[in-house]
Amino acid sequence: MVESNFILREFEGLPFYSCRALEEVPSLCHGFSTRHGNNRNFSAHPFNLGQTAWDSADRVDQNRRRFLAALNLSETSLATLRQIHSDRIHMIEEMPGDWNPPEGDALITQTEGVSLAVQTADCLPVLIADPGNGAVAAVHSGWRGTLKRIAFETILAMQKAFRSDPGRLLVAVGPGIRSCCYEVGPEVSGLFEDKYPEAAATLPAPGRPGKFLLDMTKALKVQLHVAGIHPGNIYDLGLCTCCNADTFFSYRREGAPSGRMLALIGLKKQGHDRNKEEQNNI
Ligand SMILES: [Zn+2]
Repeated sequence: MVESNFILREFEGLPFYSCRALEEVPSLCHGFSTRHGNNRNFSAHPFNLGQTAWDSADRVDQNRRRFLAALNLSETSLATLRQIHSDRIHMIEEMPGDWNPPEGDALITQTEGVSLAVQTADCLPVLIADPGNGAVAAVHSGWRGTLKRIAFETILAMQKAFRSDPGRLLVAVGPGIRSCCYEVGPEVSGLFEDKYPEAAATLPAPGRPGKFLLDMTKALKVQLHVAGIHPGNIYDLGLCTCCNADTFFSYRREGAPSGRMLALIGLKKQGHDRNKEEQNNI
């Protein structure tokens, strides 16, 4: 792992990455899933947490419940999105019993008993927490969303809705496709050079004339800087989904049969705390 700011935890055979700084925030739980989670059941099925054409809705629901349990968030209601690579943000104040995911790419809340999740398989998942007022956000930032500054807009929305101070926000960036594997054409490279000239987010791909390697995190970090996030409060897992075939799903590597991972953050209801010792480090 690039940084020791993250730890790979495990609960009942379900591993997930956890950001140490976010773990310090009381009543907040979070995690980034991997492609594993069914190993103890000797199931051949990957631990898919996203609605896909090849997987059953029931199995995905069951996997999501297991992931919530692993994060100590079983008692919460889970808000998800129909992700459309936009800059659309939804604030969750209360959860209806029958959740119908709206179209959008970021969720914010300050409500106890609500968990927020975005699904990814290469795009950058970003979790944000305000240790001062308990507000949280989950952001899906693929190349289109990164160009549309979805993370910046989400922080702005937290300021407006919850009076969050950007200087205190903690930001965790999970597994996503990195510049080692993210080859793009000049049309995408040009958009990043225009929008983020200072970021140097693309470099010519060695031995591949006309192709470029895109580093979305560089453009993301420009947004976070402009939004007022303290550099010391940005924690990047630094792992590439495409390189690490044993650990993560990657749409670029696997295509349509790829599963989806969840980046999930939630606020426990008071009185629903599990002994931390039950979560093991692996
Ligand atoms: Zn890679």
